[in-house]
Amino acid sequence: MATHHDEEEELNDLKMKHKLHDTEDEDGEEEEEEEEEEDQNWNDWKTDGEEEELEGSKAQLLCLFCDSVYSSCSPLFEHCASAHHFDFNAIKKTHGLDFYKCLKLINYVRYQVAENRCWSCGMTCQSLRDLQNHLHGVVNFEGSMLQWDNDRYLNPILQDDALLYSFAEDEEDEDGDNMSFDPKELVNWNQFEQISIGDEICSDRYVSQLMTPCENVGKEVASASDSGIRAGVEDAVSSFRNENDEQFNVSSAKIVANQIRDINKSYFGSYSSFGIHREMISDKVRTDAYRQAILENPSLIRGAVVMDVGCGTGILSLFAAQGGASRVIAVEASEKMAAVATQIAKDNSLLRSGFPRSSGQHDGVIEVVQGMVEDLDNATHIQPHSVDVLLSEWMGYCLLYESMLSSVLLARDRWLKPGGAILPDTATMFVAGFGKGGTSIPFWENVYGINMSCIGLEEVEDAARNPIVDVIDSCDIITTTQVLQTFDLVTMRSDQMDFTAKVDLEPKLVTPMNNSTGSEPEITWCHGLVLWFETGFTERFCSDMPTILSTSPYNPKTHWSQTILTFREPIAMALVKVTSEKPAAVGTDACPAVNLQSRISIVRAVQHRSIEISMEISGIGPDGRKRNWPAQLFTLN
Ligand code: SAH
Repeated sequence: MATHHDEEEELNDLKMKHKLHDTEDEDGEEEEEEEEEEDQNWNDWKTDGEEEELEGSKAQLLCLFCDSVYSSCSPLFEHCASAHHFDFNAIKKTHGLDFYKCLKLINYVRYQVAENRCWSCGMTCQSLRDLQNHLHGVVNFEGSMLQWDNDRYLNPILQDDALLYSFAEDEEDEDGDNMSFDPKELVNWNQFEQISIGDEICSDRYVSQLMTPCENVGKEVASASDSGIRAGVEDAVSSFRNENDEQFNVSSAKIVANQIRDINKSYFGSYSSFGIHREMISDKVRTDAYRQAILENPSLIRGAVVMDVGCGTGILSLFAAQGGASRVIAVEASEKMAAVATQIAKDNSLLRSGFPRSSGQHDGVIEVVQGMVEDLDNATHIQPHSVDVLLSEWMGYCLLYESMLSSVLLARDRWLKPGGAILPDTATMFVAGFGKGGTSIPFWENVYGINMSCIGLEEVEDAARNPIVDVIDSCDIITTTQVLQTFDLVTMRSDQMDFTAKVDLEPKLVTPMNNSTGSEPEITWCHGLVLWFETGFTERFCSDMPTILSTSPYNPKTHWSQTILTFREPIAMALVKVTSEKPAAVGTDACPAVNLQSRISIVRAVQHRSIEISMEISGIGPDGRKRNWPAQLFTLN
């Protein structure tokens, strides 16, 4: 399953990118500044078209603990240290925090302050003023370290938090290990685009509700009816309000609820068209893998109660019925597809009619339930923990796009018997480096003999911000392949969908056939990283016939293709040490890297169903020298 949503894209396009309005010009106009402070600095946003006006204006950096505003980091951090016992630079130095850890720390502190909670000891105070009086130095650093070193804190709580743009700017790369970073890229992480957070502080709980909508408020929000949405959000609002009356911006919750509803509407709407189902069913690699797992594991399926989460046309449910399942509960949120699945099951005499035949047997075993699996509680005829086999084709582009996995995990926890099977039961993400052939550069270099490479360069620039979902030819993979992350669907929690992983990639051994020069050490240019995944129907449950569904470039292509993350500039690599007379920068042809150390984070975006990917690369030279490239951030939406 993998879909791009046109409506959703339109929605995103329509969205204005907001920017913190900054009234202080170079000379500092006090009057305006005062007025702005009265407005509490955050309510006045700029659209894209207005962005240029802001260029060159000074940032307004809001203190982590009070209303004080500064135009640069040093005085702000000095103030935090002297007035609030929060010595950012000391913490950073003592614990050798890199850019991302600093970012997480700042966001974490803001989240805690939003809850009137002490970032250091975790104590919750009655009011912000009480908190300010309570603040103290670090007491239990180990404990607080664990709290904030979490990828969820890569997401800022404040829109365009200027501090996040600024704290790294003055930094010297003291230990040589810090990743350089283009602060402008942070805008990609800033997904609270339509939320008027104001300087009213948003509660941690509220924010977490926004972040994991299907598990919290979004459960109701995501349900089919408008009244459900309203009820869900209002519950969240009122429970929050009781505790934090003045701090809450009700309209924010409504906007978010509307966003989630619109996205779900567009998402399930996209599954109401037959084209996408045809594409999935025609993907033989995909459909055969499921068919084999279901039909060739009779000891698992025969007599089993099966739940198919997101049945679409019902194809997997039909396989399960053919395989001898005693009952198949086919859940589908799209009204249209639920009706279609019902019709198909009926046409194939596999629909359970509700009326047993004279023999006492039902004529069919499939029951189609329309609605989100999250709302299935209302279907009283299904007992909790009564399902033997949970079946779902939930995988999106780059595995995690669409976030349907969290729906499957929720179904697992609610409906699966202890020890029940989940198909597939594993998912593994892989990463490798690709060469020029993985970009559009070669195409534009020679168009009927005409050089159009300027287009290729522009496309690369764009691809360095937006992941490309396309097929990579295996001959364009120029490094070793590494496992980026593995998921065990039996045990994982949905927050583990957000992860950071490090891998080392070395140049792939060049076969004599590929090595045009024969004797010279081959330099290859790595233009980016490519991600793909496999899901396993392992012998844990499929003991008769384990199966793997692979979307690898080394295997026949699937509708998922691969996900391509392009470098801003290519990096030279070589297997054999290339020594040059002059000291040259690592990653150039005079000093190709022998190893690319990559750190990749994939997290669910605040924008429902989107994911965000960060990529940090360090090249290791033949002499052990290390070069860091600026981190790149990508959003898949
Ligand atoms: N199982 C089908 C369809 C897979 S596509 C097949 O293999 O061909 C995924 C389907 O899941 C879509 O039809 C989508 O509408 C549905 N879906 C996604 N999230 C859902 C949820 N939370 N509850 C119910 N259905 C969902």
